[in-house]
Amino acid sequence: MKKHNFSAGPCILPQEVFEKSAQAILNFNNSGLSILEISHRSKDFVAVMDEARELVLELLDLKGKGYQALFLQGGASLEFLMIPYNLMKENGKAAYLDSGTWASGAIKQAKSFGETVVVASSKDENYSYIPKNYEIPSDADYFHCTSNNTIFGTQIKSFPQTDIPVVCDMSSDIFSRVLDFSKFDIIYAGAQKNMGPAGTTLVVVKEEILGKSGRTIPNMLDYQQHIAKESMYNTPPVFAVYTSLLTLQWLKNLGGVPAIEKLNNEKAALLYNEIDRNPLFKGVAATEDRSNMNVTFVLNNPEHQETFDKMWKEANISGINGHRSVGGYRASIYNAMPIESIQVLVDVMKKLEENV
Ligand SMILES: *Cc1c(COP(=O)(O)O)cnc(C)c1O
Repeated sequence: MKKHNFSAGPCILPQEVFEKSAQAILNFNNSGLSILEISHRSKDFVAVMDEARELVLELLDLKGKGYQALFLQGGASLEFLMIPYNLMKENGKAAYLDSGTWASGAIKQAKSFGETVVVASSKDENYSYIPKNYEIPSDADYFHCTSNNTIFGTQIKSFPQTDIPVVCDMSSDIFSRVLDFSKFDIIYAGAQKNMGPAGTTLVVVKEEILGKSGRTIPNMLDYQQHIAKESMYNTPPVFAVYTSLLTLQWLKNLGGVPAIEKLNNEKAALLYNEIDRNPLFKGVAATEDRSNMNVTFVLNNPEHQETFDKMWKEANISGINGHRSVGGYRASIYNAMPIESIQVLVDVMKKLEENV
């Protein structure tokens, strides 16, 4: 029996995406070949890559605005390095917001390239809130932030204004809500949180900001090289890109980002309302910064843990243990998570209240 999968990533994808990608492993486009054995230069796969890149820009409302979408490898973690390589000038500096473990990982990489200014940090309170009212130095080469902190369950609701290029790690909330994406110069996301299987990283970049760092960049780490080669500098992760395309098509058919945002708001409200109502539970993140993707919460009384864990497991729920640095529980409710599964979790929480 299929489980209710609340895993933070790799995560649930739409059931029809699982089915179509499984079919493509056996027989891709009625070609008599598996998607796993076709040439990435074949007409059929080039069409997949082209459509996926187009659809990304269409769903983010960035078509015709000077952006390129790339499907790269190395995960979001390699972008931590590629960003300063491509954008930070020799003797330049970069500004970073430290809102969580991933943000601090990005900062660590940037430091080996030059001066790295941390504009604000919520580390003092175990990243349970989003810092606000900080100043971004206007002479920095770029500003980097993380839109959604997967581990702590916080999300930036309002982005700062600045004239310097803005880079955003949207790994865990890409395509989940409407934003003015043209305010960002680079958006990147590991596929495995909200778009597809692990193995590819989406990078959306405004072309005009590239080529200014003055550095000699190794080809594989150079966005301009990947753009010139239409995201096929070397063999791309064919299956991960194809499955991401299926998810993007699913999202488009559903009505795109505005439609999924509405559903995501309803889903998050259902779970947060129960956390706030149920006297046995409390939320971890500051209320105004709560993530609509990763919902973190704890039991007020640790003595209830054994019973609760037994109950949700019996209800066929999987993947809600909190990250080791936060403890408690984390329910990741990405785009593909049906509201029915969240209702199952809420019912278990209510039942616990009745039983203890
Ligand atoms: C998971 C995650 C990463 C790391 O992604 P990889 O693809 O595993 O390198 C980076 N940033 C955020 C916000 C994440 O959630």
